[in-house]
Amino acid sequence: MKKMNIAIDGPSAAGKSTIAKLLAKQLKYVHLDTGAMYRCVALASKHHHLSVEDEEQIVSMIDKLEIVFDDLGNVFMNGQDVTKDIRENEISMLTSKVSTYPKVREKLVQRQQEMAKAKGYILDGRDIGTVVLPDAELKIYMIASVEARAKRRYQEYVEKGIDIAYDTIYKDIEERDYQDMNRKTSPLTKASDAVEIDTSSLNIQEVVDKILKLLTEVK
Ligand code: C5P
Repeated sequence: MKKMNIAIDGPSAAGKSTIAKLLAKQLKYVHLDTGAMYRCVALASKHHHLSVEDEEQIVSMIDKLEIVFDDLGNVFMNGQDVTKDIRENEISMLTSKVSTYPKVREKLVQRQQEMAKAKGYILDGRDIGTVVLPDAELKIYMIASVEARAKRRYQEYVEKGIDIAYDTIYKDIEERDYQDMNRKTSPLTKASDAVEIDTSSLNIQEVVDKILKLLTEVK
């Protein structure tokens, strides 16, 4: 089968990264977690003690920011392993804010498009099917109820030994949904040619199988 690009979009904690990672392994494709790139910008802003409102300074910092993924999905920012740091709840909320800045998006989208030129990429994010790869051969829009997503995130935190209340996670997911869907630049929307998959009551393998089947149907 010829190498294609796959776009996976959807709200926070719908399972995009988990699925993308598994698909990439199976298809021998490269997984690009675009959310991790926005998270790095937020983390770097924090490291530089910049206010989240300081759009100009945040934008000017990006060109000096090297973001590299290894084969296991670990994320390195200017050589430092930030895989865990970028997942902290505080950073998630900051990310949702810095990703509203058009120039931040422009710079990261450019990097993403450059990488995916080679084909054989799976990108997951919010604007992949609509902005980053409008010509992707397969576009998935992955959704799940807020409750299903909050439960999964809660479970992940419990397994990692992180102490956080379920209600906090639930509220944060709702808040991030609102910010991601209502921002002016590239709000989260389903591309008209994307296939919607509701993962609320599906397990991981069922979602992977659905997408693999869709791939065989791509002309
Ligand atoms: O996917 P993840 O939850 O890691 O993304 C973190 C945040 O980054 C999202 O809430 C969203 O605000 C932003 N993001 C974005 N565009 C993308 C990927 C992520 O705006 N393509």
